Amino acid sequence: MTMSAASVRTQLILLQPTAFCNLNCNYCYLPDRQNSTLMSDEVLEAAIKCTVNSTLATNEEDSVDTTLLWHSGEPLVAKLAHYEKAVSYLKQYNIENKDIVLAIQTNAILLNQSWCDFFLENQFRIAVSIDGPEHIHNKNRVGWDNKGSFSKVMRGCELLKKNNMGLFCITVLTRSSLEHPNELYDFYKEHEFYRVGFNIDEIIGVNQRSSMKGSDTREQDEAIATYRHFMETFYQRWYDDGCPFQVREFDHLHQVIKMGPECIADHYNNLSSTPLSSVAIAADGDITTFSPELATGTLADPKAFVVGNILNIKQFSDLLPNHNLQQLYRDIFKGQELCAKECDYYAICQGGEPCDKFYEHGTFAASSTTDCTLSVRTLTDVVLKKVIENGSPTQQTL
Ligand code: SF4
Ligand code: SF4
Repeated sequence: MTMSAASVRTQLILLQPTAFCNLNCNYCYLPDRQNSTLMSDEVLEAAIKCTVNSTLATNEEDSVDTTLLWHSGEPLVAKLAHYEKAVSYLKQYNIENKDIVLAIQTNAILLNQSWCDFFLENQFRIAVSIDGPEHIHNKNRVGWDNKGSFSKVMRGCELLKKNNMGLFCITVLTRSSLEHPNELYDFYKEHEFYRVGFNIDEIIGVNQRSSMKGSDTREQDEAIATYRHFMETFYQRWYDDGCPFQVREFDHLHQVIKMGPECIADHYNNLSSTPLSSVAIAADGDITTFSPELATGTLADPKAFVVGNILNIKQFSDLLPNHNLQQLYRDIFKGQELCAKECDYYAICQGGEPCDKFYEHGTFAASSTTDCTLSVRTLTDVVLKKVIENGSPTQQTL
């Protein structure tokens, strides 16, 4: 489990230009979302420089895609000038024109035509956080006034559609939304989303309870059965309709099934278990790695998982000797070893998300979590069953 600086390939750089969010979703894991401090130009410039320094030229043999993703709090709170500067720093430092994808995860409330023009001109990929139809979305995605945000988010979605930017959304599934597979399916289809991804309500950061986790075995079995029914129903509607949009989780599992478990390890690298494959940079320049959610630290110590600051490094591999990083890697590796020993799905998931293990069990040296029971084990069983029953959807429209 030792790593050399030369083997570090940072594929995902998550920028948190502010911890502040204009929403106050019930399941949000961020502890500091009323802190409106913005990332300084100095931190932004250092982050862009370090990203370019850490990315191999496109024609180098083991170059990998690099994505610079602006993420929560609400990234649009940082105003257009922040992004204009980011693009100008990229032009200044990326003289070899390395492949760096620009992306943003937003609740879309602050979008206007100026944002759309800028994103189109600079080829940003936009993903919107929306939880489905109004009565489902508004249950959890509320503002600081506790009012539902559906109409404001949909206004942003309509603007993206009007600009032909395509609608990609991430939906957080809760126990109550699992009761509505048909309504969710109809919603994505009616509003012409081209891609949908499902996260689940999880115990992470300050979100100390999850609607998906039962308090005893009977409740947990019920939650699994409800999740299975949701996915089976959703999949069948989607398949029978000719797969009119992409579903991130189905796509991944179709590829895995096509490839066969023996080849998967060669093609999939669990970014969350590999040091510095993904990094999160907070507004003050502090860096965390492994799961981005670790940027929230622990309740007692928000900086518990910080492994350095962007102002002190030239490339991400400079962080490799950091004591905190090495300790985290040892603990996460123990968790992976447990997974490899205990779990039949290891080839597919390669040890899951360290943050889920820590926030659910209080240690990284653990295996099964609520998320992996649902999003890996149950979902794999559903997709496998559906492929056996229906045939591969690649024979249809995908
Ligand atoms: S939009 Fe995202 S960052 Fe903001 S409160 Fe909701 S979950 Fe948290
Ligand atoms: S499904 Fe869960 S238990 Fe299995 S390898 Fe993944 S994280 Fe580990």
